[in-house]
Amino acid sequence: MKHDCIFCRIIRGEIPSRKVYEDDDILAFHDINPATPVHFLIIPKVHVENLYDADMGHQAVLGKILGMAGELARQQGLDDGFRTVINTGRVGRQEVYHLHLHVLGGPDPLNLGLKGA
Ligand code: 5GP
Ligand code: ZN
Repeated sequence: MKHDCIFCRIIRGEIPSRKVYEDDDILAFHDINPATPVHFLIIPKVHVENLYDADMGHQAVLGKILGMAGELARQQGLDDGFRTVINTGRVGRQEVYHLHLHVLGGPDPLNLGLKGA
């Protein structure tokens, strides 16, 4: 099913992005408004709104997202750790309703702030 959400449009190439990694199941790209020196998102290609909507049918793709995070972080120069965040719903301050894992890092350990944190 074709979705008009902004991340589905990025997956389809209708909106440009700075790609980090892509395969049949997931896409990783740099956040347009980075909160830290390195800030990219890893998303499933299938449209899932958030962790509320995810179920065991998404186990493989969610596992892949976590399983790739370390390798992609290293490729982006994060060799001293990084922070991962998944925002869900209003209380989670989710802005884009297509599930995504934030990978945040950079050389300045004090600059790992998140919105409102
Ligand atoms: P959320 O608050 O939903 O967890 O985070 C959504 C993230 O998507 C934000 O960090 C925001 O900067 C990023 N974002 C929103 N629109 C775009 C876009 O068109 N391109 C890219 N690369 N990132 C986006
Ligand atoms: Zn979507």
